[in-house]
Amino acid sequence: MTMKNTRKRWKSATVAIHAGTDRHGVNAAVGLPISRTSNFTFVDTEEMKRWAEGKSKAYIYTRYGNPTLSVVEEKLAELEGGEAAIVTASGMAAISSTLLAHLSAGDEVIASTQLYGGTYRLMRDTFPRLGIVVRHVTPDLAGIELLVTPRTRVLYVESPTNPVLRLVDLDKAAKFARRHGLVAMADNTFATPLLQRPLEFGFHAVLHSATKYLGGHSDIIAGAAVGSGELIGKVREMIIELGGSMDPGAGFLLDRGIKSLGVRVARHSENAMKVARFLEKHPRVARVHYPGLKSHPDHALARRQMKAFGGMMAFDVKGGLAPARRFCDRVRVFLLAASLGGVESLVVLPAFSSHYNMSEAELRTAGVTAGTVRVSVGLEDAEDLIEDLRQALA
Ligand SMILES: *Cc1c(COP(=O)(O)O)cnc(C)c1O
Repeated sequence: MTMKNTRKRWKSATVAIHAGTDRHGVNAAVGLPISRTSNFTFVDTEEMKRWAEGKSKAYIYTRYGNPTLSVVEEKLAELEGGEAAIVTASGMAAISSTLLAHLSAGDEVIASTQLYGGTYRLMRDTFPRLGIVVRHVTPDLAGIELLVTPRTRVLYVESPTNPVLRLVDLDKAAKFARRHGLVAMADNTFATPLLQRPLEFGFHAVLHSATKYLGGHSDIIAGAAVGSGELIGKVREMIIELGGSMDPGAGFLLDRGIKSLGVRVARHSENAMKVARFLEKHPRVARVHYPGLKSHPDHALARRQMKAFGGMMAFDVKGGLAPARRFCDRVRVFLLAASLGGVESLVVLPAFSSHYNMSEAELRTAGVTAGTVRVSVGLEDAEDLIEDLRQALA
């Protein structure tokens, strides 16, 4: 049990370590015990009857809920400032289940143009088969009023966006959604709740690929959704029906990762600022996309809306694809790998990873050029990172 109602509100780094558990009793486990079980016993049929009638909160089967996962869920809810959370088998499980919990055939979604490739493809390839219409708006929300129809149900955004780190004005987006009675959803994977909390701006649901910064160590696939108790209840029904539940072992690793989120995000942001400043001055680099730089089109908004600028950036290598590939083939500290948010620094070409199977026009809308390299700045010593970039660009 938590002491949520009796204690003072903690700051995020403390929440990341302690929320979800009360470890002040005799022989309380300091580490998070893994309930490595698929099912749970009941004392008698009366208790089972109560469960079937929805009157008991007892665990029955891990796809419905599990004590290890409940700890992580309570922690994430508190980190994002929501009433409830659900952890899921992947970020896409959280995203698809949250969207499908709110959409039926004939309904419409307004979504930002710059989205994680998987989310974009879900909306492009699968939603039409379900009769769900998607209308895209650029991250600056230009002309968004013209996209609303009586069938619009959901506004879906990412900020900062993948891969070129444009920002959506969360305050403006949430107000727009509320004005039109839409459910506002934000993918907060890049920022983490340490840097921005979309629910505080008026969003209804926050989605995460917990594979990334929340897990933080490139060793799990995981997701999460956070929102009101009612909203998360609907998402949990979808997760139960579609099967995107998290394994308790992944739950342990996710919780272990979240414990160090405060120091990690601070260091990711510090390292990224140093790397961005180095790249910005490099003669072989055409452009650096990092919201912490004054040259970034959304720098002022980033200062307003985020506590720091995070560890993600992209840059365009002069000369396009061939020199960008050469750079990626030559890094020795950075790893050439998809994904992001782990302790290891990574480089990747979006056109060959998150943004594969997209047309030239789609890539242009996403802000991706042939020479765009996406960088996830890790926790190594910044001097080693910069030295590696210098030799790989030489
Ligand atoms: C990786 C990612 C996803 C998908 O999450 P998975 O855990 O891979 O399913 C969604 N959104 C963003 C922004 C991501 O980076």
